[in-house]
Amino acid sequence: MDALRRRLVPERDGERSTSIPELADADPDLCAIALALPDGSVRSSVDGDVPFSIQSAVKPFLFALALADTDGAALDRVGIEPTGEAFDAIKLESGTGRPPNPMVNAGAILTCALVDGDDPDERTARIIGGLSAFAGRPLEVDDGVAHSEHLLGDRNHALAHLMRDEGTLTITADEAVAVYARACAVLVDAESLAVMGATLALGGVNPATGQRVVSSRIARDVVAVMATCGVYDGSGRWMRGVGVPAKSSVSGAIVLSAPGTLGAAIVSPPLDERGTSVRGRIGAEALSADLGLHVFG
Ligand code: GLN
Repeated sequence: MDALRRRLVPERDGERSTSIPELADADPDLCAIALALPDGSVRSSVDGDVPFSIQSAVKPFLFALALADTDGAALDRVGIEPTGEAFDAIKLESGTGRPPNPMVNAGAILTCALVDGDDPDERTARIIGGLSAFAGRPLEVDDGVAHSEHLLGDRNHALAHLMRDEGTLTITADEAVAVYARACAVLVDAESLAVMGATLALGGVNPATGQRVVSSRIARDVVAVMATCGVYDGSGRWMRGVGVPAKSSVSGAIVLSAPGTLGAAIVSPPLDERGTSVRGRIGAEALSADLGLHVFG
């Protein structure tokens, strides 16, 4: 892991997200790689325990929790087709008014509204508990990040209002965005994120704790949608080059789920024009090649 990290650190391309001050101020030199293996062990590079906000890497796990809490009915409420557009595109499925898929912002705002809970605090508690089970350790929200996300997420508020108008979102727009903002603000490190990815890759059982977090059917469905939609308008390029289902995010975190094999995480804040960590993509291509992870390889 450290040898791969040394190959990535000299790469200087990309820009940090400017969507909120906390991301604009993120350490551009942060670079961490972690693997979580079926025997429960975790291997990581330098920086593997440095915390960062999970941002959109939370979306596969929100989808999994929504599927679990609705007995699969979440599949009727959100599409599963790639958009070929940016993560925050103001776009719903034509004809149904559903979000196009759970990996773009509209879809994740909706899955936040589908998890169990009668109000935003209960839904947030359910999500934090579920994410902690995926990670195998108690996770927490960075309140400053959550506040900024809620205050400055104008496009997310717009998407939520649009879904209210379509009748697809049944809680208030502000409540849905508040829960989504907190979910994006959950602090993880590369090691925990790798365990979360491994739990999906290994049929829903956390390899570190042995706990079944979701059913194998749900894990399969989530990884399938990561494969087609996880890197937004870069999903085709990613599947060809890396060949491992993954989810990118504006904090520069990428979670990977290699089916039946392992989970991995790479984080480094500078992003390319599609919102994918530059070092993350180069590192993931190298990891995939070195470990033979390409699902079509
Ligand atoms: N919290 C971010 C947003 O809603 C997440 C987007 C991302 O990571 N791509 O804008």
